[in-house]
Amino acid sequence: MNAQNIVSALSDLIANNSPVTQQSPITSQERQMPEHLADTVKLMTSGQKEEESMLDEKESEEMDEDWKDKELALEKYHLRSFSQEFMRQVIDFIDHAGPGSKHGRSWKTIHHRFRIIPDRSYIPHFRKYLEHHGTKRQKTQDLDSLVYKKLVDARQKNLVVHDVDIQRWGLKIAKEIKLDDSHASHGQTGVKKELHSKRTISSVGEKRTFAAVQSKNATTHSYTLQPTISLDGRLLETIYLCLQKQGGKMGEQVKRHLFQPKNVIITCSASGKLTASLVKYWRDNYFLSLVDAKCLLLSDSYPGQNREELYQPENCGGKKVTRLQIPQNTTDELQPLDCYFNRQIKSFLKACYHRVALYELDIHLHERNNIIRLGSLMHNQLSADVFTPMKKYAWFSSGLMREDPSPFVGVNQVCFASSETHIQCEEKDCDESVFITCARCSKKLCFQHFFTSYHFH
Ligand SMILES: [Zn+2]
Ligand SMILES: [Zn+2]
Repeated sequence: MNAQNIVSALSDLIANNSPVTQQSPITSQERQMPEHLADTVKLMTSGQKEEESMLDEKESEEMDEDWKDKELALEKYHLRSFSQEFMRQVIDFIDHAGPGSKHGRSWKTIHHRFRIIPDRSYIPHFRKYLEHHGTKRQKTQDLDSLVYKKLVDARQKNLVVHDVDIQRWGLKIAKEIKLDDSHASHGQTGVKKELHSKRTISSVGEKRTFAAVQSKNATTHSYTLQPTISLDGRLLETIYLCLQKQGGKMGEQVKRHLFQPKNVIITCSASGKLTASLVKYWRDNYFLSLVDAKCLLLSDSYPGQNREELYQPENCGGKKVTRLQIPQNTTDELQPLDCYFNRQIKSFLKACYHRVALYELDIHLHERNNIIRLGSLMHNQLSADVFTPMKKYAWFSSGLMREDPSPFVGVNQVCFASSETHIQCEEKDCDESVFITCARCSKKLCFQHFFTSYHFH
C-alpha cells in the first residue's frame, strides 16, 4: 500500500463531505492530529498488525501489598513524575482503541502519543496504580448516574422519594460497584444538591411533583422524655420517661419484661403525656431526690404541673421549692430546654432513627424496650462533660444567664461528625461503619455496638 495515495484519498473524502468553512490559523491540536493519523497510516502500509506488538500486560508478580501503600508504589515504580490524570489518559487511550485492534494499542502508538513514558513496563504499573488509588473518581460518577436512574424510575412511578431513600440506594449501589461509604455519601450530595426540592425530590425541569405512595409508614408512638438541666450545665442523673400505654397502666407481664436502666424513671399514661398524677410521681421519685434543700424550679404552664399544692413544703419532704412558671406561649423563648437543649435531644434521636432506616436494620425503635434503651443511651451521652457548655448555653439563650459560654460543641459535632465517612467500628472484629463517637470515651462504634450492645457508662 502507498501511504501517499491513502492521504490524498482521505483529503478528497474530507473536502467532499464537509461544509465549506472559513480559513483559520492552525491550532496546536490540529497539528497534533495528523501526527496520530500519520502513525496509523504508516502502520497500516507497513502491513504491521496492531496485535503483533501487543503489550505484555501480564499480572505482575509483585505483591498487592506494595500497591496498597500509595507512597510506596509511587516510589518503587518510579511513578512520581506522572499525575493520576495522566495515567488515566494513557489507560483510557489503550482501552478505547478503535474496532480495528482487538487487544488495545501497540506500544509504538502509545509511545508516539505519550512520548514522556520511558518504556512499556510503565503501562501495567499505571494500571495497577489506578486500580488501587485512582479509580474512585470514575466509580463515583458511575454511582451518581445509577442513583439518578433509580430516582427517575421512582419519579415515573410517582413514588415519594426522601433523602433517606437516595442515601440507601447510594449505599447499595456503592456496595455493588465496590466503592466505600465515604465516596457513596460524596456521590449522594451531588445528586441531592442538584435535585433537592423541599420535601419530595423532583428532577430539574419538572414543574410539578406528584406523590402517590409514601415510601415508609409513619407510625406514631407517643412518649415524653422529661430531662432536667441545672444552671451549672449538668443534666440531672436520671431522665423521666412517660410511655404511651392503652388504659394508662402497665400489667405485671409488661413490667416483668421491661428494660429498666438505672438512669431512666419509667411511667406511662394513655396518651404518653404527663398527667397530674404523673407530675406528682415525678416530684416524689425524681425531682426531690435530685435537688438540694432549697431549689428554684422553672417549669412551663403545662396543665398538671402548675398546681400550687404540688410544691408546698409539707408535700416536698421539707425541701423549700420555689416554682416560677414560664408564661403560656413563651416557652420557645424562655424555657431553656426548649430554647436549645431539646433540639440536641432531637438531633440525637433523629440520627438513630435515620441510621436504622438507612441501613434497613432489623431494629424497631418504636417498641417499648427500645424507646427506653434509646432514652437511656441518649441521656447517658448528653450527660457527658463535653456538653456542659452547651447546657449552659441553653440558659444563656433563654436570657436566664448572663455569661455566654460560646464557643461550645453540640451533639452533631461530637457524636456524629464521623458517621458520614467510612471509618470502621472500633469494636474487635466488626467491619460495620461507624455510627457514633462516644461523647464519654471517644470510642467510635457502629449502631449495633452502640445500641444493641448497650454502650453505657
Ligand atoms: Zn463510651
Ligand atoms: Zn461494631
